[in-house]
Amino acid sequence: MSGRTHARACPERTCVGCRERAAKSDLLRIVAIEGVCVPDHRGTLPGRGAYLHPASVCLDLAVRRRALPRAFKVPGPLDTAELAERLNQ
Ligand SMILES: [Zn+2]
Repeated sequence: MSGRTHARACPERTCVGCRERAAKSDLLRIVAIEGVCVPDHRGTLPGRGAYLHPASVCLDLAVRRRALPRAFKVPGPLDTAELAERLNQ
């Protein structure tokens, strides 16, 4: 990969865990449904999404920094157990 081409064809998002920018296609979109973080593999679920590397280290970081409630603009803690399980597979 050449790396330095600023092609606009590839949208970037920031991982809510490690805060690194990555191609949208390399990140997992997550939405919060009734307080539960749900992976949106097809990018079709409605609502505010957050982007995360599909790695449990990034989820850990996001949880520890309380980045997810902030990203979803919800006050309370979010259930990430199911999401963590998926990432550990
Ligand atoms: Zn990350």
